[in-house]
Amino acid sequence: MSNFSEVRVRFAPSPTGYLHVGGARSALFNYLFAKKNNGKFILRIEDTDQERSSIESLQMMVSDLNWLGLKWDEGVDPVTLKDMGPLSPYKQSERLDIYKKVADELLLSGKAYYCFMTDSEIDAQRASNQEVGSHAHIQSPYAEWPLEKALAEMKSGKTAVVRFKTKALKKDYILNDLIRGEVKFPSDMVGDFVLLRSDGMPVYNFCCVVDDHLMKISHVLRAEEHLPNTLRQLMIYESMAWAIPEFGHISLVLDDDRQKLSKRKGAVACDVFKTEGYLPSAMNNYLALLGWSHPEGKEIFDLKEMEQLFSVDRLNASGAVFDRVKLKWVNSQHLRAMSNEDLWKFISGFLNQAGLVLPTDLKWQLHSAEVFRSKMEIGTDAVTLYTPLDETKFEVSDESAEVLGWPTTVAVLEAWKKLLSEHKNPFLTEADFVNFENEVKILSQTKGKNLFMPMRVAVIGKPHGTELKLLTPLIAVKSLISRAEKVLSKIKG
Ligand code: GLU
Repeated sequence: MSNFSEVRVRFAPSPTGYLHVGGARSALFNYLFAKKNNGKFILRIEDTDQERSSIESLQMMVSDLNWLGLKWDEGVDPVTLKDMGPLSPYKQSERLDIYKKVADELLLSGKAYYCFMTDSEIDAQRASNQEVGSHAHIQSPYAEWPLEKALAEMKSGKTAVVRFKTKALKKDYILNDLIRGEVKFPSDMVGDFVLLRSDGMPVYNFCCVVDDHLMKISHVLRAEEHLPNTLRQLMIYESMAWAIPEFGHISLVLDDDRQKLSKRKGAVACDVFKTEGYLPSAMNNYLALLGWSHPEGKEIFDLKEMEQLFSVDRLNASGAVFDRVKLKWVNSQHLRAMSNEDLWKFISGFLNQAGLVLPTDLKWQLHSAEVFRSKMEIGTDAVTLYTPLDETKFEVSDESAEVLGWPTTVAVLEAWKKLLSEHKNPFLTEADFVNFENEVKILSQTKGKNLFMPMRVAVIGKPHGTELKLLTPLIAVKSLISRAEKVLSKIKG
């Protein structure tokens, strides 16, 4: 930290697909670290792989980060995607001249060289190494060429990559990782590696270091899979005499079979969870639990609380299993903590999308949210719960056939319909329903399932479902009557 005057962290996605939950977790930890330390959070776009990067992917990632509420201070603008901040550009594809300049410096100081080896020469060298069972790195015959000679060769139309020279750097590189402790990298783990490809495009390890330096990044919190890259990055920092940030490599997110989390086991894209009706607050809460723990062992908390409590020393070095059942439970807890207003606002999006026709009266809406709150785990559960309330969706299911055939069913339905028709108010209360149920029992001389099941069919069109005591006060008496009539006419043919 002493090398840097303030905490600056970054999330640096490559826009080559969707925002993976693992990526979202890295973004979250960086965001939290910045907040906790009054630092800055930067969103840098690593789009040098022109073939795989796309604007659609960038839009999707930005929209998911916005959804999660992980606001960044610099990077691309969350709406326009234009540069936002003093150290622009923040898209690597717009920084190519910067990388070229640094590469030129390294070439001039002899720490890098132009390498004219062709692919087939490289392959041939690999093959002959393999023949003798050697894992030696590529030895370029151009490593010791004077720069002038290489430049003359370039002038004559030859193309070359720029390679970083590792030969002189014989030692162990020690990384004091914030999460994993001391990690030792012997320098011969890597050979002379490419910095710039022959088309001038930089490789990840190079542009990452250049940008982290120029963007004054003080702490790099990123996925464990980048740990091996750190050796090359440390070498570049050292050769440029640049201050080295602190590194923390976050443990992998695993499947329940302890393999790296993949699509095979279910959704891994943030936007799928959004579409299924997970709350951003629950998502952040659960993602934080994948590797971090609350100092008091709490499992349910919000972003504000995390912003105050986050620290890297509570990050776990071992892999965290992505448990979808637990995520759902966390979501249900967040749903339960919402006000009726907020809950209605949240679920109404899913209800509209499903095309349900429901009362527009606010009192009804808030009451329904109250009634169903504890029955939902995710937003889309609301669609199942509310469908029976939409009269246009009412139909008598085939599974009701047996109930409709019972000799006492008509009497139950007639009694139910009669009581409803005599009711003065537009809706029943829960107590009204309990009374009605008793009266139907007396009027129709039935009890047990002979009573409950026909009544349920008369309300929801099937013999099983949510308790009628909860449902009926949410359905207009008029609609209850018309439903009962539909069932009666079905029996009577
Ligand atoms: N673009 C890299 C990735 O998406 C970033 C790695 C890093 O944070 O250094 O994995």
